[in-house]
Amino acid sequence: MKTIGLIGGMSWVSTVEYYRMINQEVNRRLGRHNSAKIILNSVNFDEIERNMSKERWDKTAAILNSAAARLMSSGADCILLCTNTLHMNAKDVKRSVSIPFLHIADAVSAEVKDAGYKKALLLGTKFTMEENFMKDVYIHNGIEITIPGKDEREFIQRVIFDELVKGIVREESRDMMLQMLDTQSEEGAQCAILGCTELGLILKDDDSPITLFDTTACHCKAAVDFALSK
Ligand code: GLU
Repeated sequence: MKTIGLIGGMSWVSTVEYYRMINQEVNRRLGRHNSAKIILNSVNFDEIERNMSKERWDKTAAILNSAAARLMSSGADCILLCTNTLHMNAKDVKRSVSIPFLHIADAVSAEVKDAGYKKALLLGTKFTMEENFMKDVYIHNGIEITIPGKDEREFIQRVIFDELVKGIVREESRDMMLQMLDTQSEEGAQCAILGCTELGLILKDDDSPITLFDTTACHCKAAVDFALSK
């Protein structure tokens, strides 16, 4: 089994999910007492968040490149960046190591296409929804992307940063998210990408009027595929 390197802490709340999902998936596939070989480098989210809010992507890249280099020198066989937004620095992180970098949007694209969808609504932080770094990867992979309107984007951004990254899941926010999905569904959306690693904590496929793709779950599955490949 290969060793999975995680750059986590963005936020720690979703990194817990990565740790749980990867271990559960390895055990589901191998049985007995099998669990994953994981090395975690967890950063201080406040340092990332301060730089991110000022759009100092050079500073976030420096923090993440150093985390990736440490994982590689500790024996990781691949790198996962456990956040969508910081994939803003994906190219830098990829360049800074000589082991495979598993891009979150490649993992999600494979599942969206397997399920037969060609177009998806992308939910996430304002950076993920409004900038091109994530949309470009989906478009390159043959998936057309739509995003919610301005008010909805502001609402999602607030829920992510004021609640979810702090481990707060409010019923009221969940109801508003589901209402938003209802409206999107009426307007023709067939599926949505939960393009923030905490969104799976508040939105579940069973409650949703449209199919949801949880980026955390897709990323974890890709990590296990890699770890168990020959
Ligand atoms: N984890 C979130 C994401 O997937 C948001 C927090 C962050 O900016 O890292 O985008």
